[in-house]
Amino acid sequence: PPRTFDAIIIGAGAAGMFCAALAGQRGRRVLLIDHSPEPGRKIIISGGGRCNFTNVGAGAGNFLSANPHFAKSALGRFAPADFIALVDKHGIAWHEKTLGQLFCDGSSKQIVAMLLDECAAGGVELAFGQAATVEHRDGGFEVGLGAKTARAPALVLATGGLSIPKLGATSFAYDVARRFGLKIVEPRPALVPLTLPGEQALFKTLSGVSAEVVASAGTGRFREAALFTHRGLSGPAILQVSSYWKHGEPVTIDFLPDRQRGWLRQAKREEPRASLRRIVGRLLPERLAETLLEQVGAGGDVGNIADRTLEDIEKRLAGWQFTPNGSEGFAKAEVTIGGISTAELSSKTMEAKRLPGLYAIGEAVDVTGWLGGYNFQWAWASAHAAAQAL
Ligand code: FAD
Repeated sequence: PPRTFDAIIIGAGAAGMFCAALAGQRGRRVLLIDHSPEPGRKIIISGGGRCNFTNVGAGAGNFLSANPHFAKSALGRFAPADFIALVDKHGIAWHEKTLGQLFCDGSSKQIVAMLLDECAAGGVELAFGQAATVEHRDGGFEVGLGAKTARAPALVLATGGLSIPKLGATSFAYDVARRFGLKIVEPRPALVPLTLPGEQALFKTLSGVSAEVVASAGTGRFREAALFTHRGLSGPAILQVSSYWKHGEPVTIDFLPDRQRGWLRQAKREEPRASLRRIVGRLLPERLAETLLEQVGAGGDVGNIADRTLEDIEKRLAGWQFTPNGSEGFAKAEVTIGGISTAELSSKTMEAKRLPGLYAIGEAVDVTGWLGGYNFQWAWASAHAAAQAL
């Protein structure tokens, strides 16, 4: 006969481990399953090995979803301060790096150890390194693990998105959800470097050069560093706008976000005998300034350049358009946009409306955060919402 639990959670990543721990500590008998022998592999590599585990400013406005209001409920009931309190309770030292982003001083492994400790405190049973099958039978869920079967009235899908298949990402949550009739918002890679086509290849010679810019695509607009790579564009500003970018659309970069309109004409008045290259080269990395001005086709002393031409140059530098031909895909994407449709779930409990007992949390759901600790905050908050209902 199958062993019975109150809840079975599939996926021992950020959301699954946290949900298991909280439900266990509320007295639920929980089984936590992962096909990987090692839990939380994405946590371990996250934030360059230091895990950017939350963002102090996290709110629904920092997330993309077909329903921009969906995340409010869970985020409102489990705030960054709540997670920080847990991190503090475990004596894990942390610091704020920039833009509200919190990182471990030591290692992201401390966060995984903390979550496993919390699971142990909740008496959670672990089954790692095993593939699972799911059936809905007699009003409950039956999960096959090799020759064994486990049964529970509640099943939580916490297997994340498609990013980085090398780390064990699969479409498991989407497949099970679809099988039970839930709609999926087409998943696509996000927080991902963008590639440039051949005719914009000139910029590839700038590989390694970075600058603080304002990058925009669609409704996304971010002031952070952009980095040229041998394949195209990367760096935080580009990763951020990649979530808003659609095929065929441009990415616009303001290379000089601190310059007001008219600044070049003013420079002409002040230093007519300075070269355009020198003036722009003071504000941008030398090679970048050179390449941009080559493209603009302007040069010489600013004193000899007509005001109208200078105005055009200002405009181009403030609104440079790149038209990427794609992204580096799921292999390089930090997250997946899309996933289990929020229309199928209760925003309060993360339970499926059409199939009571089925829950989805974390990145598997169509809620995607900006770069900067937001995705983990969603994992914690959605896990907390489900755990209260289990
Ligand atoms: P995951 O953490 O991905 O966990 C899913 C789990 O399900 C995994 O353990 C996996 O093995 C398991 N699984 C998958 N398929 C199956 C299956 N078929 N059967 C059983 N188990 C399965 N976000 C931040 O907020 N801050 C950061 O610093 C940050 N850095 C990142 C760096 C990188 C390189 C990457 C790739 C992502 C980063 N993210 C960061 C995003 C963040 O890691 C994810 O959004 C978050 O881990 C999602 O949590 P999750 O629990 O939903 O999924």
